[in-house]
Amino acid sequence: MILLVTDLDHTLVGDDQATAAFNSWVKSQGEQVKLVYATGRSLTSAQGLQREKTLLEPDYWAVSVGTEIYHQGELDLTWAAQLDQGWDRARVVQITTQFPQLKLQLATEQRPWKVSFTLVPGDADWIMGELTAQFQSSRLAAQLIYSSDRDLDILPKQGHKGHAVTYLQNLRQVPAEQTVVCGDSGNDLSMFQTSARGIVVGNAQLELRQWVQTADQHRHYLAKQSHAWGILEGLAYFYPSHFPPQNSPFQAPKQVGGLNRSSLYRFSN
Ligand SMILES: [Mg+2]
Repeated sequence: MILLVTDLDHTLVGDDQATAAFNSWVKSQGEQVKLVYATGRSLTSAQGLQREKTLLEPDYWAVSVGTEIYHQGELDLTWAAQLDQGWDRARVVQITTQFPQLKLQLATEQRPWKVSFTLVPGDADWIMGELTAQFQSSRLAAQLIYSSDRDLDILPKQGHKGHAVTYLQNLRQVPAEQTVVCGDSGNDLSMFQTSARGIVVGNAQLELRQWVQTADQHRHYLAKQSHAWGILEGLAYFYPSHFPPQNSPFQAPKQVGGLNRSSLYRFSN
């Protein structure tokens, strides 16, 4: 069984044809693949995207940067209880009000275990330094994630995509080499820091690409292709036996990279 965890925006979503090819592959795997969407979006927003882009129903939703996990429509309360340890949302908000440079994102992005701002890159370093110091002196188990040169998420220490992946991996008792994470930006980085295998899509932002290039090359795959084509490319690299030979709906790559998408995945219908 493969526990397949993917980010949505600019990873699974971004090229509709590629998303459709991904969907076909996942369906062809039946029970062999458990699908997890790990996204910065709230559940409501992610489900809106699911309808708009015809995404498959995942086995798990890890939404709001992994701070909420849903399975069959229910919030995972064990995960929620873990995040609550040392988290004081009201105190976090109170500390942030000292910094007018922090602009609160839309109300829909504010969640029980996530406070989200926009922040210009020029102010990011010093403000994050100040916040970290104040959280420490207030004994708050909070962490900061800055991504896309714009978004600052403040989350419980345990609450990020990476810990959500590890939690689900333990819950389903899936070995590290059968767990694979896919992403494109800084808020996916924590997933690549777990023991899981990682696929960085070809259109990934420099912040993630650079990190992965310095990390364990054997565990991570930097795809040549973008969006869900890149996910499929990486899956074929890690799990070649899941990509059947020429008479099947898919044609597995003879070599990874350097091939164009039509030669990588050819549909029978
Ligand atoms: Mg993304």
